[in-house]
Amino acid sequence: MLIKKLKGFRDILPEESALWRQIEGVAVEVFRRYGYRELRMPLLEETGLFRRSIGEQTDIVEKEMYTFLDGGGTSVTLRPEGTASAVRAFLENGLHRTDSKARLYYVGPMFRRERPQKGRLRQFHQLGAECFGWPEAGADADLLCLLWDLFDTLGLSTRVQLQINTLGCRGDRAAYVERLRAYLEPCRDELCENCRRRVDHNPLRVLDCKSTHCQEASAGAPTLLAGVCGDCGDHFVQVRSLLDRQQVPYQVNPRMVRGLDYYNRTTFELLSGDLGAQNAVAAGGRYDGLVETLGGPAVPALGFAAGLERMVLMLAEGNAATAATPLAFLVHRGEHALEAALLLRRQLIRAGVEADMDYGERSFKAQMRSANRAGARYALILGEEEVAQGNVAVKNLDAGTQETVAQDGVASILAATGSPASEEE
Ligand code: ATP
Ligand code: MG
Repeated sequence: MLIKKLKGFRDILPEESALWRQIEGVAVEVFRRYGYRELRMPLLEETGLFRRSIGEQTDIVEKEMYTFLDGGGTSVTLRPEGTASAVRAFLENGLHRTDSKARLYYVGPMFRRERPQKGRLRQFHQLGAECFGWPEAGADADLLCLLWDLFDTLGLSTRVQLQINTLGCRGDRAAYVERLRAYLEPCRDELCENCRRRVDHNPLRVLDCKSTHCQEASAGAPTLLAGVCGDCGDHFVQVRSLLDRQQVPYQVNPRMVRGLDYYNRTTFELLSGDLGAQNAVAAGGRYDGLVETLGGPAVPALGFAAGLERMVLMLAEGNAATAATPLAFLVHRGEHALEAALLLRRQLIRAGVEADMDYGERSFKAQMRSANRAGARYALILGEEEVAQGNVAVKNLDAGTQETVAQDGVASILAATGSPASEEE
């Protein structure tokens, strides 16, 4: 019996992985230009890291984590997100001691045991940025500019909407939680089972619940935005005006709370109409208290994570697969021809010319068919006579013309013709 992959896990096949490379390449360059440096973190962490940072009463910690005891009896968890690990790494490696400011990015898989559906997997991938050390609104605006430019560079900015909100400070939140609890108490029976409990422990989560009953019940709830303190209100006004000046379009969504507990002040989501129910393609915000929560000094911070699968879905629409087509296909017949073909292919590749070939002793006709199927522009024919004289017959497959040239010269001739990729530029 064939062993199959686990539910919610995927193989990314070559046609699709080209899109992944494209996105990752653009992202790495945008991050670099904005002064972010790469952080590579372990996939497995002590469970306590996530419980303490993400929060006990969240979907992720309550029901989505892959947690198990390792051989030594330690409870370990496959990371469900990157921020907690980034903060741990920032502290554990003493980055805060040399300079309290750091801008880091990461790319990699995350694991959450959710119900699999389009755009929702159990192993998915995120690109994330974390910015430590700046409490000022300028840092919030700059991070949002980065996020916007990332989508803009990929040609996706016309298909996303940026929504922002503020969650205020700890004091604002405590006061709001009371107001919200008072509002939700009378309609507790209309809420889903989880949310009935959350009214007591963490009523903010009710606003974030995906159940339509919970959404309806909380539709008229007071908003956090209406009750934030003066300082938090000013911070938000400043973020907004900076975004206006940068011409980054956004909408204020006073109902947005995020699914993790550590956020404060500015929070945001990047939504796309192309993704159906899973409409969030990136999300993030400030988490000024998290470094302290995880045992460090008070270092303000903020960040975001973008879902790669959802970016790939967006980019794949109307974007035909662009598999590399060889510019040249080597056709070889007779003694020593295979040897000559391998050598010539290597010379061509080293000169930056895409070249492919077949390794078998197949007929001339069969190899020419392969050349056509591969979409080659030239067939480079090595028969016994050509090999003996150090030549190769170059057949232009579009024009049907053919000329014989020295093997040594063919790489430079074809390099000058240009590969399909370099012609586009
Ligand atoms: P959602 O509301 O879709 O569950 P979330 O609030 O749980 O998202 P975050 O934890 O903020 O998401 O993660 C940021 C981004 O990571 C999301 O916007 C999404 O693009 C992606 N993402 C999150 N969970 C998944 C998943 N299970 N499968 C694929 N992508 C995901
Ligand atoms: Mg989620």
